[in-house]
Amino acid sequence: MKILDYMEQYNHEQLAFYTDKAVGLRAIIAIHDTTLGPALGGCRMWKHATEEDAILDALRLARGMTYKSAAAGLNFGGGKAVIIGDPTKDKSEALFRAFGQFVDTLGGRYITTEDVGTAPGDLEYVATQTAHVVGLSESLGGSGDPSYATSVGVYEGIKASLEEALGDAALAGKVIAIQGFGKVAHYLAQHLKEDKVKLIVTDVNKEKLKQAKEEFNATVVSPEKIFDVPCDVFAPCALGGALNDSTIPRLRCKIVAGCANNQLLEDRHAELLAQRGILYAPDYVINAGGVINLSFEMTDYDEEAALERVRGIGETLKKVYAIAKKEKTNTARAADRLAEERIAQARKVKRIYPG
Ligand code: NAD
Repeated sequence: MKILDYMEQYNHEQLAFYTDKAVGLRAIIAIHDTTLGPALGGCRMWKHATEEDAILDALRLARGMTYKSAAAGLNFGGGKAVIIGDPTKDKSEALFRAFGQFVDTLGGRYITTEDVGTAPGDLEYVATQTAHVVGLSESLGGSGDPSYATSVGVYEGIKASLEEALGDAALAGKVIAIQGFGKVAHYLAQHLKEDKVKLIVTDVNKEKLKQAKEEFNATVVSPEKIFDVPCDVFAPCALGGALNDSTIPRLRCKIVAGCANNQLLEDRHAELLAQRGILYAPDYVINAGGVINLSFEMTDYDEEAALERVRGIGETLKKVYAIAKKEKTNTARAADRLAEERIAQARKVKRIYPG
């Protein structure tokens, strides 16, 4: 793979590598774009099969963060870190201290946080070496688990999508099918319960299904069946790739709106949804509550102020839907346009001294 060619193709700024043999650290930080501000993005710990896989993962995820922060109106760019290793076996205090030193070498161009394979406890060690870390636990002055904030954004996003698709944001009596009843989905169900929404839920974990039934009177179906149930909204809240060639033709909903990352298996699947007349709430727009919440950690964290900003996700989605209509494109592409346009405008601003 020609890494510099790839970086040029997608406009990445920087790729950094770091090793500390004594503690077993092999890490990568990718910075995609810092036009709007320092690159913010999590640190993923994963046992990648090859170095190339790890590099591509970091570059691809960093670019995704640029779009997520830009569309959310945040003053951050996109970045991502990858630690190559098995999170169930290879973690240690020393490893994360070393990673903190790596982050610090970039002088604030990259701000790290948790991601798949890392947790707030790991970030505490990172924070001993660098100030450029967010997502710390509440006891350390951080904003804690982002799941609640994410659920608030998804809830607002569902209402904005109902208004767009049906001309009315009312939730009472609507049927919402949730794939994956984890942390975000559970909070989401709490909001929806107050609106007397009927829930259909699936999960691979039987305990979660029991909870959905007992707490929310949800109808429970098997993971395979969730794509076939008639509903108003299908909410992917499990892992990525839920929307693909085999699932999209089966959907019996008017809207897809959920918290999962990378819901479309491939970009072209946004077009397939549009062709079926299903309104797709682009994942990185509707699930930005967590990153919006994190951005409030840079100053004295104020939960209510953060949530107020998260509630703006409904308005952002309306903008995306308006762009899609105006430019006769699908909503995923429209979200990209919103982000790209904001970055392009910011890039035009002339730089004056000092600054
Ligand atoms: P979680 O791990 O608590 O929940 C995921 C749930 O999905 C689990 O209960 C799991 O058993 C279930 N699941 C996995 N595979 C499944 C399948 N094939 N069918 C049905 N259920 C399945 O995670 P979470 O924090 O609630 O996040 C959910 C999704 O939202 C993830 O894609 C995550 O990346 C994304 N997301 C989360 C946040 C956040 O703040 N937590 C923010 C942005 C995006």
